[in-house]
Amino acid sequence: MFLDAHVHLDRYEHPGRVLAAAEAAGVVCVAMTETPEHFDGWAPVLACDPRARLALGAHPLRATEMDAAALRRFDELVDEADFVGEVGLDGSREGRATLREQRIVFDRVLARVTAEDAILSVHSRGAEADTIAALTDARVRAVLHWYSGALRHVDDALDAGLYFSVNAAMLGTQKGARLLRSLPPERVLTETDGPFVTVRGRRAQPSDIPALVDDLADLWGCRGEDARAQIEQNLDALVRGARMPPAPVEPRALHLAV
Ligand code: MN
Repeated sequence: MFLDAHVHLDRYEHPGRVLAAAEAAGVVCVAMTETPEHFDGWAPVLACDPRARLALGAHPLRATEMDAAALRRFDELVDEADFVGEVGLDGSREGRATLREQRIVFDRVLARVTAEDAILSVHSRGAEADTIAALTDARVRAVLHWYSGALRHVDDALDAGLYFSVNAAMLGTQKGARLLRSLPPERVLTETDGPFVTVRGRRAQPSDIPALVDDLADLWGCRGEDARAQIEQNLDALVRGARMPPAPVEPRALHLAV
C-alpha cells in the first residue's frame, strides 16, 4: 500500500478518475476538506469508499467563513472523524490579515480534537513556530503538511512527536531537499497536495506517489520497497498513537479502512 496523506480530491475536474488511478497504483488517499460544510458535501460520496478517507477541515484561509454555526458543525462531526484537515495557521502574505480569526478557529479545533484523538494534517506556512507550539501544547497526533519553514523549528516538531508529509515539489527545491535530509525516515509520510502541486508539467495526483517513494528511496539510499515499507510503518505507528512523550490519555481505537 502507498499513502497520499494530503490531497484535495474535489479540486480535480474528474475526482472519480483520480481515485480509480490511485486504486490501480495501490494508493490510499486522505482527502482534505476546507470547511465542515465542504465535509458534509463529500461525506456521502466517500463514506464507504475504501480508497479514500475524508478529513474534516477548517482551512486557515477560510477562517473568516467559520462562523458560530460552522464551528458547531465542526464540533458535531469531529467525534466521527479519524482525520482532521486541512487545519492550521497561515502567516504568509496571503493569510497575514486574518491571523486573528485563524487563531480562534485553530485553538477551537485543537481544544476539540485532543480528546478525540483524530490525526491532523496541518498547514503552517509563514507561521511555523506558532503552529508547532500550539500542536505541542495540545498533545495531538499531527502531520505537518508541506513544511516550508526554517530548519531550526524541526527539532521542536520532532520532540513533540509530529510527523512530516512530503511531496514532489519539496524534493524539487534545495530547501525542501535539505529538510528531507534532516528528517528521520520514521517521521516521514507521503503526500501530493494535488492538484496544487505540478509534477513534470502536470498536476500531481495520488497515483504519482509510487514515483515519489522511489525518489525518497534514492535520498535514503535504500530500495523502493524498503522506503514504501518505512512509510507504511510510520502510518501504522501514527495511527496506533505512538507519540514521543507519554500521552496523558489512553488513545481511542481508530477504525481505519486503509
Ligand atoms: Mn493542501
